[in-house]
Amino acid sequence: MTLLVVGLTGGIGSGKTAVSDRFAQWGAPVVDTDLLARELVEPGQRALADIAAAFGPNCLDRDGRLHRARLRERVFADPAGRRRLEAILHPRIRALARERIARLIAPYCLLVIPLLAETGMTDLVDRVLVVDAPEAERLRRVMARDGIDETQARRILAAQADRDRRLALADEIVENAGDLAALDRRVAALHRHYLALAATLAR
Ligand code: ATP
Repeated sequence: MTLLVVGLTGGIGSGKTAVSDRFAQWGAPVVDTDLLARELVEPGQRALADIAAAFGPNCLDRDGRLHRARLRERVFADPAGRRRLEAILHPRIRALARERIARLIAPYCLLVIPLLAETGMTDLVDRVLVVDAPEAERLRRVMARDGIDETQARRILAAQADRDRRLALADEIVENAGDLAALDRRVAALHRHYLALAATLAR
């Protein structure tokens, strides 16, 4: 059976998790590349050894686990380092995503790729769903959720692909500027839309 793969993306604080949780409630399987990336750097995994070899033992904590904050700091202002890290992780994330999707039995699934516009992983998906929210709203939500100040929140937002670039990839858009009840309705409508699309694929 052909499975329709919907790539879900959006800037930080746009509401990707709020959206994917709602699809999951409708029974759609959700594969999240952030979670795959975490699995791939568990102790004992090849990717973790490759990262330690590339960035030094300083990027591991005392228990031999990845010290995310330190690695993030290390590559944040270093484009070459970031590319090295991506060269270690991205091919593995792709392979694992394909493997997980191949096992699913469902009309459609969601593949959450926060950095879809930046990583060019569009070949993994049939359609792109972008969650969009006004910048002021995203800042407010991220500050409230993560307990960070506005300077930190702005720094994270600025490191991401701009909104226009993301929206240019979209087949569907969730305008997440309203309340959660509005989000429920939008996701319900999209669920029906993807079921209908999947049915035409299956024919
Ligand atoms: P990240 O990129 O950091 O993972 P995200 O895109 O997954 O963020 P969420 O975690 O879904 O964003 O949303 C950010 C915060 O805003 C969460 O605390 C979430 O509950 C809240 N939120 C999302 N959408 C709405 C909404 N429409 N109304 C009120 N709160 C919302």
